[in-house]
Amino acid sequence: MALRQIRIMGDEKLEKVCRPVTEMTPRTKELIRDMLDTLYDANGVGLAAPQVGILRRIVVIDIGDGPLVLINPVILESSGEQTGQEGCLSLPGQAGIVTRPNYVKIKALNEDMEEFELEGTELLARAICHECDHLDGIMYVRHVEGELFEVTADEDEEKQEES
Ligand code: ZN
Repeated sequence: MALRQIRIMGDEKLEKVCRPVTEMTPRTKELIRDMLDTLYDANGVGLAAPQVGILRRIVVIDIGDGPLVLINPVILESSGEQTGQEGCLSLPGQAGIVTRPNYVKIKALNEDMEEFELEGTELLARAICHECDHLDGIMYVRHVEGELFEVTADEDEEKQEES
């Protein structure tokens, strides 16, 4: 298990547009493993490569249903709306209210560089939108309605409140 350091908002790597992955290499595989280790260690729901300082279009997500690896994800369709609490591992201890689509359909590559499509609703849709934003250098704070607020340590993860 190898953990990578999570970059905190203000780090310039979080403000850059990431490059697509063109081939799977042992180094990229190692990065993906490390990203998952780092995500679970931080009790997060999602992590994007720029959050560990790598400007590649790679996202890992686990909303509690097992790990999802999205390489070069593209949102094909979105619909509906959900408004709820959102946080980010790159802005620990804070959260804000963000409105996102309630449904998204994406295409992405898996770790074997095979294309697949995935549909998500509710928390998964929110996580996908949040992480895809990271790949374009966008932090969720840009979408926050009102002020950021403090959250306690056990709520300090990329997730929506259950309510
Ligand atoms: Zn984030």
